[in-house]
Amino acid sequence: SQVALTIDHLVKNGVRIMRGGVFKPRSSPYSFRGLGVDGLKMWYEQARKAGIKIISEVMQVSQIDEMLPYVDVFQVGARNTQNFNLLDELGKVDKAVMIKRGISGTIEELLYSAEYIFSGGNEKIILCERGIRTYERASRNTLDINAIPILKEKSHLPVVADPSHGIGMREFVEPIALAAVMAGADGIIYETHQKPEEAASDGQQTLDFDESTRLISRMRKAYDLVTAF
Ligand code: PEP
Ligand code: MN
Repeated sequence: SQVALTIDHLVKNGVRIMRGGVFKPRSSPYSFRGLGVDGLKMWYEQARKAGIKIISEVMQVSQIDEMLPYVDVFQVGARNTQNFNLLDELGKVDKAVMIKRGISGTIEELLYSAEYIFSGGNEKIILCERGIRTYERASRNTLDINAIPILKEKSHLPVVADPSHGIGMREFVEPIALAAVMAGADGIIYETHQKPEEAASDGQQTLDFDESTRLISRMRKAYDLVTAF
């Protein structure tokens, strides 16, 4: 299956965490909206066997309990960064939460959103820069490299970057990922698929496994370089 092939690819490359959406926020209601909790359970079992942790997006409060046993990290997507009810409830769970910056959100707003989770009692928070909406139309979003060191300095939380949504073009995911590593990102999330042209979502920004393997090895080199300075 698609999941098994991807897990295999990650294991071969020493990657220990996998992200996938079973509840997908889509700009158009006619786009693929995910497999739901049944998909999550199947995926979880396969990932566990391979020793891989999983991260998946929770879109609303009612999904927290049903997802809880089958995720290691909850993702809050860019459209929910200021869903304060959801953030309050995630403040009460004993699982890490990765919160994405809002589509037109400021750095300060992202930090306040993290405070909602923190003040509920959950300190396991990861911040994600995924690109913001600017006047630029040549790329899907504008990944704000500036946000990476600023968020790290202001929060001391782990900061990850999402070059796939940040630029939205497969051929440029690698340079933007490497730039984020050099800027101090603690992690990179990107989209990969055995056959990106057949992906149910976001194929235009998705790497095939050869591109993904190359990216992982280059990111390791970039990380070694930046930590040796
Ligand atoms: C996603 O992570 O696949 C996603 C929908 O991202 P965002 O919320 O950043 O648009
Ligand atoms: Mn996506």
